[in-house]
Amino acid sequence: MIIRNVEIFPVSFRLTESYATAYETTSEVHNVVCRIETKTGLVGWGNAAPDPYVMGETSTSVVQAINQQLGPALLGEDATRIHYLHAKLSEAVPGNYAAKAGLNIALYDLLGKRAGLPLYQLLGCYRRKILTSVTIGIAPPGETVRRAVALAGRGFKALKLKGGRDWEEDVARVRRVREAVGKEMLLRLDANQGYGVEEALSLIQALEGVGIEFLEQPTRAEQLSSLQEVTARSRIPIMADETVLSSTDTFRVAAHYYADHINIKLMKAGGLTNAVRMNIIAEAGEIETMAGCMDESIISIAAAAHFAVAFRNVHYADLDGHLDLDRDVARGGIVIEDGFVIPVDRPGLGLEVDL
Ligand SMILES: [Mg+2]
Repeated sequence: MIIRNVEIFPVSFRLTESYATAYETTSEVHNVVCRIETKTGLVGWGNAAPDPYVMGETSTSVVQAINQQLGPALLGEDATRIHYLHAKLSEAVPGNYAAKAGLNIALYDLLGKRAGLPLYQLLGCYRRKILTSVTIGIAPPGETVRRAVALAGRGFKALKLKGGRDWEEDVARVRRVREAVGKEMLLRLDANQGYGVEEALSLIQALEGVGIEFLEQPTRAEQLSSLQEVTARSRIPIMADETVLSSTDTFRVAAHYYADHINIKLMKAGGLTNAVRMNIIAEAGEIETMAGCMDESIISIAAAAHFAVAFRNVHYADLDGHLDLDRDVARGGIVIEDGFVIPVDRPGLGLEVDL
């Protein structure tokens, strides 16, 4: 399992429907597909989905980091020594978590292929499938309802609405969607750091009885006391996302109960090795986790899905980042049935890549 070659392929996708968050409006996304080949010709695939807003990475920075430091650090190494390679890449260059995630995912794909096992089995398979939400960006209420009804019609059972610009508008949109999709649909709201403590609590109070599963990142990422106060006073569970980028952040949130849940994304964690660690730390602090994502090829979405079903403490999934891409560079990995994400029963990630 000696690594002979590391190759990367920058790819761009257009979104079939552009969407807005508290940060920006997105219509095009950039990923970097990673291919690692061993001396015996076995190939592992990974994908980096850089996020300029939360992690400060771009496809240019991913390409640079892999070409200059991370790729060369892997050459000649044993691909099965994932913990050693994780440490080696951490020391090779600081930050660059999406770049590291792309390579780390490819190592797990290789491991699964070598073992002849799907990754979810290799990680210990707690369950076979997990319900996913699909995200609707900030849009006028009529447009939001149109998208929500369309997604319900496609069998999705959980929706995540983006908000965080104006709490009263958020309340109005959530109420309209609830009326349109009925009581059974799970509704999540993501404020992307948009509110202060009092605004967040007003929002939460106004949504009482509407049936919100959880509210994600109501306050600024770095203002831990604000998040803690909202969590302590809220009747709706609070999920930390932008506050938690690492296992150290996870430990801090768990130790001080800054939030009820955390959102684990492979691109924040730098790959599966650290995502597993974050989930275990969270579980020790009785914090439930969600497997989340960026706008990503199905390659890294599949990796997150294999992770999500492998661990009991991953109670939630938001693995929809590939659904709005105008095309993809891979097939397989997962299927979505009746709102559930199911990793396929093929070795590794179970993907076919056509670049
Ligand atoms: Mg979020």
